[in-house]
Amino acid sequence: MKPSDASNAMIHVLEDEGEIGRLICAALTEYGFRSELSGSGRQFLQRVRQTNPDLCIIDLGLPDMDGMQVVRELQEKQPCAVLILTGRNDVTDRVLGLELGADDYLVKPFEPRELVARVRSILRRYLKNPQQAEAVAEPQMARFSGWQFDIQRLLLQAPDGREIHLSAAEAGLLTTLLRRPNKILNREQLLGERDVDPFDRSIDVRISRLRRKLEEDPQNPRIIKTVYGAGYMLTASVDWS
Ligand code: CA
Repeated sequence: MKPSDASNAMIHVLEDEGEIGRLICAALTEYGFRSELSGSGRQFLQRVRQTNPDLCIIDLGLPDMDGMQVVRELQEKQPCAVLILTGRNDVTDRVLGLELGADDYLVKPFEPRELVARVRSILRRYLKNPQQAEAVAEPQMARFSGWQFDIQRLLLQAPDGREIHLSAAEAGLLTTLLRRPNKILNREQLLGERDVDPFDRSIDVRISRLRRKLEEDPQNPRIIKTVYGAGYMLTASVDWS
């Protein structure tokens, strides 16, 4: 389980220099985070399943393993946010590219306050991601292109005031689209976890039903667009309240 806000987040620190490691943990504790310190790559990878961190701070210069290898194995074992620590001489393209899925890096020596600021900023970004955002109470009324949609009542109101009831499946699909407007969503993202069947054409059926209710000309949709070979996209700005 991930916390619904950044406070109380669990941060697992991998740093072989004990003094620096303790300094980092002290700074994190001071700002309300929980922390755990590992001094070697192997110890870290063994412990990480138990600590179930929200974010890991990983020093690249380790005695027993290549730090990048640790990041790679971590992402396979226990995917989570990663902040890399590195010496000035090691800021090569492999770090700058962050190609392994690290979220940010910090060059040593650094101010503890700077470290905490980076940690907070990464956690904020993570909490914006839709899977975790769902855990947070969300607004239930969306306004877009003159329309209004009440999630609780599955009720759509047209710009002219007409009220249209949606089925639970249609409402779920519309909600998913409204939560991520102007982004292409593929079939898997649009299907709820409950009905994952790759051969299921019901998304297309639900989309065309929604279009008949929402679009002036369902054959020439302006709100829910088809992106060929990729999925669907809701093109509107959405206000939630
Ligand atoms: Ca080191």
